[in-house]
Amino acid sequence: MPAGGSRTCYLDHNATAPLRRAAADAMAGAQGEWGNPSSVHGHGRAARRLVEEARAEVAALAGARAEQIVFTSGGTEATDRAIRGPGRDRGRARVLVSAIEHPSVLEAADGIETISVDGDGVVDLDALSRLLAAGGDRPTLVSVMLANNETGVLQPVAGVAALAREAGALIHCDAVQAAGRIALDMGALGVDMLTLSAHKIGGPKGVGALIVAGDVALDPVLRGGGQERGRRAGTENVPGIAGFGAAAELAAREIGAAQELAILRDALEERVLGAIPGSRIVGAGVDRLPNTSCIAVAGLSAETQVMALDLAGFAVSAGAACSSGKVSPSHVLRAMGLGDEIAGCAIRVSLGAGNSRADIEAFTDALRDFAARAA
Ligand code: PLP
Repeated sequence: MPAGGSRTCYLDHNATAPLRRAAADAMAGAQGEWGNPSSVHGHGRAARRLVEEARAEVAALAGARAEQIVFTSGGTEATDRAIRGPGRDRGRARVLVSAIEHPSVLEAADGIETISVDGDGVVDLDALSRLLAAGGDRPTLVSVMLANNETGVLQPVAGVAALAREAGALIHCDAVQAAGRIALDMGALGVDMLTLSAHKIGGPKGVGALIVAGDVALDPVLRGGGQERGRRAGTENVPGIAGFGAAAELAAREIGAAQELAILRDALEERVLGAIPGSRIVGAGVDRLPNTSCIAVAGLSAETQVMALDLAGFAVSAGAACSSGKVSPSHVLRAMGLGDEIAGCAIRVSLGAGNSRADIEAFTDALRDFAARAA
């Protein structure tokens, strides 16, 4: 794909992945099944079948059971419910989350306490132990993501879950960025709740799932109907759910190909480090998602890089995808102890199935040329 050409080279798959053809087809097909999935007649049963098929596919992607899936309006809603839904003793409850969580976790409730991360962006298990010990017998919920959206750094979620369980705490994991990129097994992770989002795996936007282990009592997201086993009222978004199911099926099948993106990612990083003075890769020393590279070029603001790259035909993000179009310094990089000279100069390149070595070469040439012009 040519740099500066009429087509944009899309390197921002952590913001959203292109809609898969199979997901679009499943959604179009589901529009034809307009029955209400709660109706007992044939129209209703046809729509119900689509919802339940999708439920099985999403469960398979996460190593969970179909009845554990609660379909939601996306990752943000799923996480909101995970953090605010476990109703017991809510007034006294503590919520401990890693300092590098997505805002949907960090801002889900008042009084959230953060668990620090080390210089590589990995959650500090000793810090978690200390926080858990300080809580006495207060009911506690711990939330730690499986993979960070800005750096791709993987988190020791099974270790977090073991500590949380020992302390009698519930554990939630935001697996939105990990799904489809590394194998997921909710049982092996040992978590009580897991969040997924369809649009990060090539499904539609506005659909997600909270996966809830059998013994977790959850207040419903929305009240006033028995849908989703009483955990989220309201007639289901059948086309969206069908698209999610189709995307989940393919994402699970293509997990090996997703792993191979690490070869492209490594080539990208080698070229960047070799060609651009003052460049560094954040989190390079630890396990990361295969598709994600957080590149800081000293002295070049992230915002300027993103705009210059956009003009050159490359779509990337400045750290986190900025929900308002405004780029602010990354709380993730700050939590890693990086000053603004790095945190303000970091862009995120996130690869996906459509990317090629030629994309990587054209991208690194464009970044190198921009850095040279700006020097
Ligand atoms: N969690 C992480 C790690 C994310 O990257 C995102 C989206 O950027 C979300 C949650 C929110 O998901 P959704 O866009 O489906 O609400």
